[in-house]
Amino acid sequence: MVDPTSDLGEDVDEESAPRCATCGDAIVREPTHRVVTWVEDGSVHHRHFCSDDCKADYDDAA
Ligand SMILES: [Zn+2]
Repeated sequence: MVDPTSDLGEDVDEESAPRCATCGDAIVREPTHRVVTWVEDGSVHHRHFCSDDCKADYDDAA
């Protein structure tokens, strides 16, 4: 069985799953999972979204 999300390296349960920055849903192996990474003050930050729609909503609100 081919798992198209395996390149994300995720094997998490709901408690340790990242939360969508827009809607707050736990993201557990969502194929639409999006991660935004940036460097600020010398450290790496991540922001997770459950879908492109939530990512777009966050970008609009920012
Ligand atoms: Zn979301």
